[in-house]
Amino acid sequence: MPAWLELLTVVMIGLCVGSFLNVCAYRLPLDESIVSPRSRCTSCGRTLTWFDNLPVLSWVALRGRCRTCKQPVSWMYPAVEIVTALIFVIIYLTYGPTLLSLARAVFASALIVLFVTDLQHKILPNVITLPGIVVGFVCSLFLPPGWVSSLIGLVVGGGFLLAIAEAYYRVRGQEGLGMGDVKLLAMIGAFLGWKLVLLTLVFASFTGSLAGGVLIASGRGNMKYALPFGTFLAVGALLAATWGEPIADWYFGFYQ
Ligand SMILES: [Zn+2]
Repeated sequence: MPAWLELLTVVMIGLCVGSFLNVCAYRLPLDESIVSPRSRCTSCGRTLTWFDNLPVLSWVALRGRCRTCKQPVSWMYPAVEIVTALIFVIIYLTYGPTLLSLARAVFASALIVLFVTDLQHKILPNVITLPGIVVGFVCSLFLPPGWVSSLIGLVVGGGFLLAIAEAYYRVRGQEGLGMGDVKLLAMIGAFLGWKLVLLTLVFASFTGSLAGGVLIASGRGNMKYALPFGTFLAVGALLAATWGEPIADWYFGFYQ
């Protein structure tokens, strides 16, 4: 297969998976089934036909509005589809047609759903994080980073945040980090191993402080305005899952 056709196939798969991830991100926080009923307009409830439901294309063709009720359809839907396709391409270009690519694509898909649910509802559904921990560990039995690194990553990732959450609760008397964040970081550790889970924390803290700084500087938030940390963990883990290995080698080599 020519290289462009391979990439086009990856893009198509990414767009379709992204479309499914939208369904998951919308329905899981509402405790709805992700298989039935068929997709509907969230304003008027009309069932979408296949041509209302083509990734990105339908949204552009309908100029971001429902065909029937003309209510706006969030730009988050096509954005999730495009980002999913983009991340799948980066994974494919980095790891090639391998099982590792497949594992990283599954991992990235989970992270994209968690990013959206945490941003919109401040929820990191257990139905994703808990099986994610198991799947990540099982994959690591025969894929990088190997089961030892995965197990350490799982325990250190989850345990580290658990300690911070506990300390924060004792000092401030309120919950700063939820158990969802703890389970998410355990899942990240299970998939990526201890080195990349630490790198994820570095990325997440950096982008989190940056976003917090921007919010405070623009007067739209203060220190009490709780940014959902899970969204930053998801972004950090996506970076770690794609470009993490060379950065981790440099980063940990730097501190030896
Ligand atoms: Zn409608």
